[in-house]
Amino acid sequence: MRKLALHWQILIAIVAAIGVGFVLNVLTTETHTPGLFGTSFVSILDFVGELFLNALKMIIVPLIMSSIIVGVAGIGSGGDLGALGGKTLLFYAVTTLVAILVGLVAVNVIAPGIVDGQPAKDLLALDASVADVAARVEGRGVGDIAQVFLRMFPPNIVLAAAEGQLLGLIVFSILFGFAMTRLSHEHAEPLFKFWDGTFHAMMKVTEWIMMAAPIGVFALIGEVVAQTGFSAAQSLATFAAAVLLALAIHAFVLLPMLLRFVGGVNPFKVLLGMSPAMLTAFSTASSSATLPVTIDCIEKNVGVSNKVSSFVLPLGATVNMNGTALYECAAAIFLAQAYGLDLTFGTQFTIVTIALLTSIGVAGVPSASLVAIAIILGAIGLPVEAIGILMVFDRILDMCRTSVNIWGDACCATIIARLQGEETRVAA
Ligand code: ASP
Repeated sequence: MRKLALHWQILIAIVAAIGVGFVLNVLTTETHTPGLFGTSFVSILDFVGELFLNALKMIIVPLIMSSIIVGVAGIGSGGDLGALGGKTLLFYAVTTLVAILVGLVAVNVIAPGIVDGQPAKDLLALDASVADVAARVEGRGVGDIAQVFLRMFPPNIVLAAAEGQLLGLIVFSILFGFAMTRLSHEHAEPLFKFWDGTFHAMMKVTEWIMMAAPIGVFALIGEVVAQTGFSAAQSLATFAAAVLLALAIHAFVLLPMLLRFVGGVNPFKVLLGMSPAMLTAFSTASSSATLPVTIDCIEKNVGVSNKVSSFVLPLGATVNMNGTALYECAAAIFLAQAYGLDLTFGTQFTIVTIALLTSIGVAGVPSASLVAIAIILGAIGLPVEAIGILMVFDRILDMCRTSVNIWGDACCATIIARLQGEETRVAA
C-alpha cells in the first residue's frame, strides 16, 4: 500500500482533532471532565502535544548554530556574504512592510472596532482590566525596542541559548562562521566538518520527529478546540475575519506574485512543497519549533540549496515574520478604533514603524506578538490591558499568522535562491 504523503496525514489529523476536541468541549461541564481512569482526555492531549513540541524545540539550538555557521562559512568571502545577506534583509524588510500595509488597509476598510458608527469600547467591555494578561506581558520583560538591539549581543551566549534568545545566537553564529572564513585551511577544515556533520545529524533527527507529526498535531489541535470550543467565535468575529482576510491576501495573492514575477517559479508547486512545514506551523504556533521542518521541506521539496536555506531560514524564523507584523498592526488599529482614538496619519505611521521593528525581535513562540502589541499600545497611548480582549482569538489567529510567517520565509528563500542563479525544482 502506498504511504499517504505527510501533509495529508497532518491534514487528516487536524480535521480529526477538531472533531474530537469539539466533542470533548461539549461533554465538559463544571462538574464533569471526560477522561479515563481519573485522567482527563485534555491532559493526555496536553502531554502528547508537549512531547512533540519539546522534541522539535530540543534541536533548535544545535540546528540554528550549525546551519548558520555552515551557511556563512560556506558562502566564503565577505563580498558574497554581503550580497546574500543584503538581498535577504531587503526581501525580509519589503515583504514585512507589504504585509503590514495589507493589515492596515483591511482593518481601516472593514473597521471592526466601529459598530453602528460608534467605537465598540463598551460592547467589548474594554474598560474591564485584564490584570493577568498585563502581568503576563510585563513578565516577558520587553521594555522597549532598544532591547531588540541589546539582545543581538548577549553577554553570555550559553545563557542566551538556554533562554531561547535566538537573535543573540544568530548573531554569534554569523560571527563564528565569518571568522572561519578568515582562518587557515588547517584550522577551518575540521571546524567546517564538525558543524556540517552536526547539521546533517540534526536534519536526520528532524525526519524522525516528523514521523510522529500527525499524532503530535492531533494532540495540539485537539487540546485547543477542547478548551476553547467555538463559542468564543462570536464577539470579535469581524476583527478575526479581517485579520484572516488580510493574511490570505498576503499569503495567497501577493507573495505568490513575488514568487512568479521576481523568482520565476510556480507558486503552487512551492506551496505544495512547503505544506508540511506550514501545517506544522499551524499546529505548533511557533516559527522556531517549525524551523527544522521548514529547512527540510525547502531543500527536499522545493530544491533550494543548503547554502541558501541554511542562511536565510534560521534568520527568517526570528527576523522575518510577515503574519505577525500584519497582525500587530491590525490589532493595534482595531483597538484604537474601539477606543475611539483619532487615527491620524501620525498615529498610523507610528503603528506601522513599531510593527516593523518589533516583528524583527518577536520570538518565534506562541503568543509572542502580544508583547509587541503592548509596546505599540503604549506608544499610541492606549492602556495595555486592552490586550485582554485579543486573547479570545489569539490562539487560532496565532496558528494562522505563524503559517504565514513560515510561508514568507519560504518565499524569500526560494526567490533568493533563484536570484543566486539556482535552478530549484519549482520552475514555472
Ligand atoms: N507565534 C508566532 C511565531 O512563532 C509569533 C507570534 O505572532 O506570536 O511565529
